[in-house]
Amino acid sequence: MHKNYHNAFPWGDNRRYNSYKHFLQKRFSGRIQKLTINAGFTCPNRDGTVGTGGCTYCLNDAFNPSYCQPEKSVEQQLSEGIAFHANRYRRAEGYLAYFQAFSNTHAPLMRLKEIYAPALANPLIKGIVIGTRPDCMDAEKLAYFRSLNEERFVSIEYGVESTEDRTLLRINRGHSFQQATDTIAATAEAGIHVGAHFIFGLPEENPELWFNNIHKINDLKINSIKFHQLQIIKGCAIEQEFYNHRSDFHLFDIETYVNFITKYITHLNPHFIIERFAGEVPPRYLAFSHWGTIRYDVVLQMIERRLEEKGWRQGQLTVNCN
Ligand code: SF4
Repeated sequence: MHKNYHNAFPWGDNRRYNSYKHFLQKRFSGRIQKLTINAGFTCPNRDGTVGTGGCTYCLNDAFNPSYCQPEKSVEQQLSEGIAFHANRYRRAEGYLAYFQAFSNTHAPLMRLKEIYAPALANPLIKGIVIGTRPDCMDAEKLAYFRSLNEERFVSIEYGVESTEDRTLLRINRGHSFQQATDTIAATAEAGIHVGAHFIFGLPEENPELWFNNIHKINDLKINSIKFHQLQIIKGCAIEQEFYNHRSDFHLFDIETYVNFITKYITHLNPHFIIERFAGEVPPRYLAFSHWGTIRYDVVLQMIERRLEEKGWRQGQLTVNCN
């Protein structure tokens, strides 16, 4: 259905952006929660397949909920996650199993099927969301996800992080932007919901570059998108790099981030569903905090309020987004 993007609220709710929450409400009848699973994968950028040491900013523990530990089976994590969410969100009628930690397609297909099986066997699980790297997908796995997608909701979420190859090199990412573009296109071609993740604040990047490069993001064949501000995690390689080369980093405090991201999305493809505007890491993991202990739901309220005050909406300044 063609939407009128000149209207302030073209997505059918009262938000000024294309929200993931609204997408889930439309896609599934009833309230759906995501359950984060750590299935014990590693990552090709750590185990030597592509590199060692990992991305310079990565400490997976900091990005995982505490109930989700790889020593527990997928079944146990699912049942504990459902109990946790049922307490907190009594209206949840179904769940998406979110295989989040590390690279969740980094194993032979037979092994992947075994790992996903408990989630697919659970009638409360309405679909699976798989977080992975763009260089961790192949034609055989895509064919499997394509057939699975015929009976269940399947979403593949790729860490892209930057549109700049020199940044990807500097953070030891181990893949190029073109690799991400190609894998995303192949996944979309298979009819699978595709998500992408980007970080604002990586070394030698700044708002001018992000605005100049937004057309590269707008051209990606993705359905949904997540943005995170860079947070310097204790003990990661990027911590020392930050102390040594502070002027290479453009980090945000909360106020400057809200200003930036609200303006940024006025240029963002209005078809993209925004799943996150910012990251949230428990303060104990942070080398220092530009944000204080502010929670994501408060950040989201600030962003929504700012969009309202400015009269801005996602995509109002984009051109030629089909
Ligand atoms: S961010 Fe992802 S790809 Fe990079 S080291 Fe961590 S798990 Fe691996």
